[in-house]
Amino acid sequence: MKILTVNAGSSSLKFSLFEMPEEKVIASGLFEKIGLNDSFYTIKYNGEKITKEYDLKDHSIAVNKLMSELIELGIINSLDEIEGVGHRILHGAQEFSEPTVLSEEIVKEISKYNELGPLHNPANLMGASSFIKALPNVINVGVFDTAFHQTMEEKEYLYPVPYEWYELYGIRKYGFHGTSHKYISKVMSEALGPDIKIISCHIGNGGSLCAIKNGKVVDTTMGFTPLAGIMMGSRSGDIDPSIIPFIMKKLNKSADEIITMLNKNSGLLGISGISSDSRDVESGALNGDPRCILAEEMYAQKIANYIAVYNNLLDGADAIVLTAGVGENSKTMRKMIIDRIHSLGVYIDDKLNDFRGEFRKISTDDSKILVYVVPTNEELMIALDTYNIIVGDKN
Ligand code: ADP
Repeated sequence: MKILTVNAGSSSLKFSLFEMPEEKVIASGLFEKIGLNDSFYTIKYNGEKITKEYDLKDHSIAVNKLMSELIELGIINSLDEIEGVGHRILHGAQEFSEPTVLSEEIVKEISKYNELGPLHNPANLMGASSFIKALPNVINVGVFDTAFHQTMEEKEYLYPVPYEWYELYGIRKYGFHGTSHKYISKVMSEALGPDIKIISCHIGNGGSLCAIKNGKVVDTTMGFTPLAGIMMGSRSGDIDPSIIPFIMKKLNKSADEIITMLNKNSGLLGISGISSDSRDVESGALNGDPRCILAEEMYAQKIANYIAVYNNLLDGADAIVLTAGVGENSKTMRKMIIDRIHSLGVYIDDKLNDFRGEFRKISTDDSKILVYVVPTNEELMIALDTYNIIVGDKN
């Protein structure tokens, strides 16, 4: 069965076509600069890659072009071969705690929550609508970044602020990267058994940690928005909220402008003054740049601190998992993080740690908590969720 996964952004549309249940990627690609002058797309299949310029006025033109290219390139013979489309949707709030079959009506329901994810949700839903129109007989499934975290209990997801803020305005921790953490939870339960306590550390450009017990989320570091938690590539993570009105006055900027600076000019970029990409900051640190060294130390320490907090919350974790761009690829950052939790009796073997991008246990035999590197795969998780709904529907 062929299943398409889609991640639609405001000016982009990323897709993968899977053969399921084999979990094989048949084709993948990206439509870029949708709605802009110099739009183009790239499709990878069969070891080949094509790039074409094309006037992509809006998402539905990109979707129609994708459909016609899949046929013209001989990747599929007819559109009927696609049995499901899984859409990444950032925010499902409390209402959408499971992958959900989408219709125009449901898309409208979800759009109620656009104000909770204003940068992503409208684009995610526009992508979903385009596919519902282009493939009316195919099951479209929404897979929400917030869904996996909906098992958190009130005592974890509430902020200690007036309770009415939650009741009237939905002010609570929602958590993000849920699809990645769910995938990590699935892979680790296949490796170690279902009754495990893990700390999943998704450390990419964005970053979040998630405490998971027996496949259910206990707590996660991102909050009402993805700005909370650990220090990230260009996001601050947790800060004292009183800084916001103070710096607004000093810089004569609006709250929205300061929030944008906390999202885009902070984190590794803010401290290093060089880049949000940990490769640049790592090489700056290697060359002795004091601000890069400081940025790296702060980054590692904040992650280590949350690992210790979650180890306590889980009453002793069985495994720590490092994943996403930095977690999968940077042996330097992995070591810096684990060096900061030796008080938990956690150690990694430098030889085992000397690699990138594959599933591997890197802890020493006497480490009190196992440490794994696991490549995440959000597209596959979306394909699996979509497949399971279709198979469930057929039964
Ligand atoms: P996103 O949050 O955008 O999905 P990714 O998980 O793809 O991010 O991670 C991207 C980040 O991973 C890059 O910004 C870079 O900091 C980091 N990264 C990728 N490769 C390496 C590497 N070899 N060494 C260190 N960091 C890396």
